[in-house]
Amino acid sequence: MDPKITPLKLDLKKDQALEVQWQDGRLCRYSISYLRSMCPCAQCRAMRDEQKTVKKKLTLTILPGNYAGELTATSAGMVGNYALKIQFSDGHDSGIFSFAYLREICPD
Ligand SMILES: [Zn+2]
Repeated sequence: MDPKITPLKLDLKKDQALEVQWQDGRLCRYSISYLRSMCPCAQCRAMRDEQKTVKKKLTLTILPGNYAGELTATSAGMVGNYALKIQFSDGHDSGIFSFAYLREICPD
């Protein structure tokens, strides 16, 4: 396994953020709202692509999900040994965050 995409420790604070300590020593912290906005499921990917297109036309777009309230993670679990599945408080639960993807979107 590549140490860059192998977590040593996963720490989810449901109302704040996910922290991942990687085997190569890097620590990444993802806020729950950031994870929601980067959800890798097909539906959200399509929505993000659509937004990119719409942006070129300079029109107002409304982000998916409920951004008015406090967004939290209601539950989370491991998917095999390669990914994390997170259920969000806006009811969305189809996002499976592979460790490779999490490493890719590490905010830094
Ligand atoms: Zn999604």
